[in-house]
Amino acid sequence: MLRALPLRPFNRCFPSKPLSTLMPKRKSSSEAVETPAKKSRLVKTKEQPEPLAQRSESLWKVGAHVSAAGGIQNAIANAAAVGANSFALFVKSQRKWTSPALTQETISAFKAGLKEHGYDPRHILPHGSYLINLGNPDATKRKKSYDCFLDDLKRCEALGLALYNFHPGSTVGQATTEESISLIAQSINDAHKATESVVTVLENMAGAGNIIGGDFQHLAQIIQQVDDKTRVGVCLDTCHMFAAGYDLRVKEEWDRIVTTFDEQVGLQYLRAMHLNDSKTPHNSKKDRHENIGMGHIGLTAFHHILNDVRMQGIPLILETPSFEQPEVWATEIAVLDGLSGFDLQSEEGLDGLVERVKAVVKRAEGGGKKGKKGKKAPAKKGKKKEEQEDEEDEDE
Ligand SMILES: [Zn+2]
Ligand SMILES: [Zn+2]
Repeated sequence: MLRALPLRPFNRCFPSKPLSTLMPKRKSSSEAVETPAKKSRLVKTKEQPEPLAQRSESLWKVGAHVSAAGGIQNAIANAAAVGANSFALFVKSQRKWTSPALTQETISAFKAGLKEHGYDPRHILPHGSYLINLGNPDATKRKKSYDCFLDDLKRCEALGLALYNFHPGSTVGQATTEESISLIAQSINDAHKATESVVTVLENMAGAGNIIGGDFQHLAQIIQQVDDKTRVGVCLDTCHMFAAGYDLRVKEEWDRIVTTFDEQVGLQYLRAMHLNDSKTPHNSKKDRHENIGMGHIGLTAFHHILNDVRMQGIPLILETPSFEQPEVWATEIAVLDGLSGFDLQSEEGLDGLVERVKAVVKRAEGGGKKGKKGKKAPAKKGKKKEEQEDEEDEDE
């Protein structure tokens, strides 16, 4: 039976029992209304976002890449407000080489916030700066990237975080794939020596041009050259996988992909996933994130993931367009959480869930700033969205 998803209309406080209390018995959401939502006391923020959804107790840790505007401690309440059981954030401006150091006050507020909201550092996946290219054969440019990378890692450690996700890099057309891979591994080794504990998590890429990481083998080759294997891992982005040629739509294919990953890289290295649908078709080599169920991948693929025990206990992060409306992610998280144990043979099927996402996206597109991507910084002035995205595909 289709479970009633505990979602409320726009901007309404959603005081309810945790989603998990609804899940096994599949009660209607109307039974779950009355307890006032717990207010956070410790994190001092300008404004605590009103909770739109309660967090589920699912073993699959679904969350989103939330905004850290106004101070990174704000990311925690933003994640909790959309019912996220994991989250991603930028630990400094993702488009600048340097940012002011974290203050002791920010660090304390962040740590207090994690405790207050009960987030485990294993479920938090900071995303590295988009500028970093550790595969660049130009030593001066690579050094600039490395300094930015190392600074990110140190920020993570100061904040008590365990993981750090970044894009492997690009040859920029000036080196062979093998050469760039060695340079990337070398930087990781150097950074490991300069830090204590944070695990560097390589993201698979969409497979465009000179970019490293479209093929699982690239990730395997980097890991092979990393000395401290306990401090390296992989984050699999569904949109990137699909764009790079891995077709996760059919269950048998999904299982084959995971087996291939296990053989080539090793499942023990899988530390996180990014859950994104794709605006572009299979094997397009294009990185265009779409809301869950609304793109070429489709909701069935996410059903494979949310019912695969191998994907339990790791952050499963949405980087879908939110149009700055938190209810988009609240809905996507509830829909994804609802997929675990969902019977595909049921009469309702997945269509009703897709409709829920479509409806909230439509409302958000009307109310939010059109075209703005959830995980991205505001579009540069005077540039259209597509232009900005194309810039991101370039290898710098
Ligand atoms: Zn990424
Ligand atoms: Zn990603």
